[in-house]
Amino acid sequence: MSLWTETQDLLRDVTAELACPPSVFSLLREPRRVITAQIPVRRGSGQIECFTAYRSQHCDVAGPYKGGIRFHPKVTLEEIKALSVEMTIKCRVVNIPFGGAKGGVQVDPTALDPQELEQVARGYVDVMGDNLGPDRDIPAPDVFTNARTMAWMFDQFSRRHGRNHFSFITGKPARIGGSRGREEATGYGVAVVAIKALGLRHIDPHGARAAIQGFGNVGANAALALQRAGVRVIALSDVRGGVYDPAGLPVEQLIQWEAAGTGRTLAEAPFGQHIDPLDPLFLDAEVVIPAAMQMQITKDNVGRVRAPLVVEAANAPTTHEAHRRLLSAGKMVVPDVLANAGGVTVSYFEWVQDLDSYFWDLEEVRTRLTTFMTRAFEDVLAEAAGDADLRRAAYRLAIRRLWEAMGDRGWV
Ligand code: NAD
Repeated sequence: MSLWTETQDLLRDVTAELACPPSVFSLLREPRRVITAQIPVRRGSGQIECFTAYRSQHCDVAGPYKGGIRFHPKVTLEEIKALSVEMTIKCRVVNIPFGGAKGGVQVDPTALDPQELEQVARGYVDVMGDNLGPDRDIPAPDVFTNARTMAWMFDQFSRRHGRNHFSFITGKPARIGGSRGREEATGYGVAVVAIKALGLRHIDPHGARAAIQGFGNVGANAALALQRAGVRVIALSDVRGGVYDPAGLPVEQLIQWEAAGTGRTLAEAPFGQHIDPLDPLFLDAEVVIPAAMQMQITKDNVGRVRAPLVVEAANAPTTHEAHRRLLSAGKMVVPDVLANAGGVTVSYFEWVQDLDSYFWDLEEVRTRLTTFMTRAFEDVLAEAAGDADLRRAAYRLAIRRLWEAMGDRGWV
């Protein structure tokens, strides 16, 4: 089953469970608007090459659309649609006034030079035209896009409209309207909910063992925040390999080691024992955190997961079948729509700061983020009311909130 069919099944099941009127499922089953466009780029050779761009705008009943843009050669429209639904759910779970969107460009960013990449970024803003905007649809970084990409897009949008629109896009550099703490936000939020979930399982976070797959923005920042809270990070991996030390890894040193050379991989890091990219998920630990890619824990390997707690830092890292099996083995899964919502929450803070032209310090961002993540975690638990399936509880909570907002606006 694809991510898209799994997502639609979950929407169908949960709207039926809540006994929503059929109109609610009708409004949620497909994105409100899907845009497909071609971005022309003049390559260094002088030839024009066109790259396919997508934007899926799922549901804006509670506020403007919000969602990242990924640059990846294997981006598909179905994947973008599914991820836009997840964004709608995520925004309702953390209760921020946005609706879900997602964007992507089918391009291999490693095959383009910086000038070509800049054309892709600026071209995305041009081809999406008036469908994007600070009170319409607010983009953000995602896989293989970053603050640099957001800065180009912000500049292009501002040029098109003849004045600066800082609140058009989030994840910008701090010098041009970015928020402090945006870079670390998703990993920081993952750590907040992981610690809450350990507490629920009666496991003391001090000295508890965490194993993390993925050493990018989310994995590295989650590792740092967990370690600062006293958790022992025993394994980390990237796409090429990983490191393992049952006594705990020196996370800061690993980050510095990786940053000290281009193209460095944990497969060559001079720390601990070397392991395979997927191995952290199967180690003896109190919590495992998939923080790399979607569809990593599947029906074929789920039997190897030993930890009592899985915190989904990546989007959709567990297939629905694997998720069912984890729950029947008595494990707790903190779903992506809750666990990784720290990124969009600080994006919301960035949007608010841009609208106010008043910027907060890092401590204020962290304190507010902790409040939002803690409240969302408690809301999902209350919704679950003892049911072990927190993903379903998060969807129930979000869909009930969407249904209520649709009612307020007279949509249903
Ligand atoms: P990133 O590109 O910064 O890092 C990804 C990391 O995963 C890299 O270390 C890469 O080497 C590693 N990796 C890739 N394939 C792997 C494999 N098969 N095994 C082990 N490691 C592998 O990306 P990121 O921003 O950290 O995002 C990670 C995940 O979190 C993605 O699913 C993304 O959609 C999701 N997410 C990110 C944010 C955010 O704010 N960055 C917010 C919400 C969700």
